[in-house]
Amino acid sequence: MADKISVLYSEEEVNARIRELGEQISRDYEGKTVHLIGILKGATFFICELAKRITVPVTLDFMSVSSYGDATESSGIVKINKDLDEPLDDRNVIVVEDIVDTGNTLSYLLDNIQKRGSKSVKLCALLDKPERRIKDVKVDYTGFVIPDAFVVGYGLDYAQKYRNLPYIGIVEVDG
Ligand code: 5GP
Repeated sequence: MADKISVLYSEEEVNARIRELGEQISRDYEGKTVHLIGILKGATFFICELAKRITVPVTLDFMSVSSYGDATESSGIVKINKDLDEPLDDRNVIVVEDIVDTGNTLSYLLDNIQKRGSKSVKLCALLDKPERRIKDVKVDYTGFVIPDAFVVGYGLDYAQKYRNLPYIGIVEVDG
């Protein structure tokens, strides 16, 4: 039997919120170029939609990381599987992530990125689960603050499935 997925935020709600984030970033970075760093794979759908809504010049790069830990909790020990293609010298960086949960992954990543000589580093996350936070991570631009539930869609997976759902849903795993 298929997993049951209940809609938390519809496609229209997600896109409307991303449009607002794009407007806010465009205002905050007026006269500057924004360098978006997407964290693969979860942030891919979000970063595409966000970049289209930013009206100041945008450049893009991507990183892929894996965090050791069990299925539900990351450990803070992060392995970089794909590093950035370009140096960050003097760039205005915004790290774009799908979700901040314990903060373990982002805490490591932001620290790593901050050491690379950019002008500024900010964090934009589509979803934030503050109840689960272990490491103190400041999210500068948040799509939605959500309760402690396992969500899928809009780039987020369950065992690599459901990334392509155009909405954000809560999955009730079958069996
Ligand atoms: P953290 O290090 O903040 O605990 O974990 C961040 C990563 O865990 C996210 O980038 C995401 O891959 C995964 N994650 C955390 N919560 C969820 C969730 O509710 N759904 C999905 N699909 N992934 C999650």
